[in-house]
Amino acid sequence: MSLISLKSDRDLEALRAAADLVSRTLAEVATHVRPGVTTMDLDRVAETFVRDHGAEPAFKGYKVGRAVFPATLCTSINDVVVHGIPDDAPIEEGQILTADCGVVLDGFYGDSAYTFAVGEISDELAGLCAATYDSLLAGISFAVAGGRVGDISSAVQQHCERLGYGVVRDLVGHGIGRSLHEAPQVPNFGRRGVGRKLKHGMTMCIEPMITLGAPDVSTDDDMWTIRTVDGRAAAHYEHMIAVLKGGPEVLTTFEHIEKVVPAPYRQPAEQNG
Ligand code: MG
Ligand code: MG
Repeated sequence: MSLISLKSDRDLEALRAAADLVSRTLAEVATHVRPGVTTMDLDRVAETFVRDHGAEPAFKGYKVGRAVFPATLCTSINDVVVHGIPDDAPIEEGQILTADCGVVLDGFYGDSAYTFAVGEISDELAGLCAATYDSLLAGISFAVAGGRVGDISSAVQQHCERLGYGVVRDLVGHGIGRSLHEAPQVPNFGRRGVGRKLKHGMTMCIEPMITLGAPDVSTDDDMWTIRTVDGRAAAHYEHMIAVLKGGPEVLTTFEHIEKVVPAPYRQPAEQNG
């Protein structure tokens, strides 16, 4: 088992700053999400904002094997689950677009993702976004010292599967700190009471990736874009959290984003009825 780094109070301060910057970057992106804008436009907004605040984009230049990620944001539309590459195609009314952003500020990483509605979206997509968002909050509530990673995983899984959504197995959350991806892995499926023990000072990204249909995914020839095999939509929300003695601290925030766009609304069927 790989070693989990426990953060000092000083480390936590630095991670709060990185988390705050990534949160504000996504809010800046939010102000530009509308039909007709390209994901490349959004990427430029994000990169400029990150650099203007004394940080570096964390994903740009990130390597997996021979593949090098070329952008500041991962932009993932509809059936793309994660790791979509920004391009010059205009986004369209009715799509859902996940912007995932990573920064490195003073040697510490920030990482957060939010699924946006482009204009008006269907109740079906709105329901998917709301379930994914709520499952993240459910998972966070189990990030308690003395618990296990499986407590978080099972909370996310049960929330989504109870509502009939698919839980992607091939991609997981992760520890974060002086590296973008640290131990432990934080799957979105699992059993309570199982997995690595949660301790004061652990910092991690919890990031449910949830589908309307089956949870199976495949990777495009570009070696990055991961999409659902059945072509149905996926949503993805990601927070950075710290496990502290008094309970979880959410280091990132969607508060700035939600001053710009409404949070995914609950129970669309009831709201429309
Ligand atoms: Mg991310
Ligand atoms: Mg992440």
